Amino acid sequence: MASYTFGQHLIKSSVVFFRSRLTFAFVNRKPVVPGHVLVSPLRPVDRFVDMTGDEVADLFQTTQTLSKVIQDQYKASSLSIAMQDGPDAGQSVWHVHVHILPRKAGDFRKNDDIYDEVENHDHVNFDSSSRQEWRGEEEMAQEASILRKLFPLHFTSDIDL
Ligand code: AMP
Repeated sequence: MASYTFGQHLIKSSVVFFRSRLTFAFVNRKPVVPGHVLVSPLRPVDRFVDMTGDEVADLFQTTQTLSKVIQDQYKASSLSIAMQDGPDAGQSVWHVHVHILPRKAGDFRKNDDIYDEVENHDHVNFDSSSRQEWRGEEEMAQEASILRKLFPLHFTSDIDL
């Protein structure tokens, strides 16, 4: 599979680090904290309510599988696991996704400030300054390649992608 659909975006397989039967996970182009990754159903589906039971089970099973590894890999002690479901909840990409955010003591002045960041970090005005804040493909691919090795049963090699 050369690329994955994520709402209006095409996600290159080089930035995807995990795939299950119904779900894929990839690195964020603008992480709120180091290790901020996204988990999505393979089928393009706008809202949580539109998912089948099988997709929901696979999405959350995958989120659980990833969460321990992500927490350890980024030397965090905790995780924020979040979903913005719908326009008034801050969803900006019309394809269900779970945010996994590694957390450390004192990483935000007030603990819940992270939710403001999740809501606002990716507001794009379609001007060049917003785009400059996005990470380059090479940096993202490098991070995904490190993470992929932590899940050897899911990708035996990059060629599988
Ligand atoms: P939300 O605002 O909850 O819909 O979150 C959308 C998330 O997708 C944000 O964390 C963005 O940084 C992230 N994002 C958007 N486009 C891409 C992309 N092409 N590659 C990786 N992450 C993306």
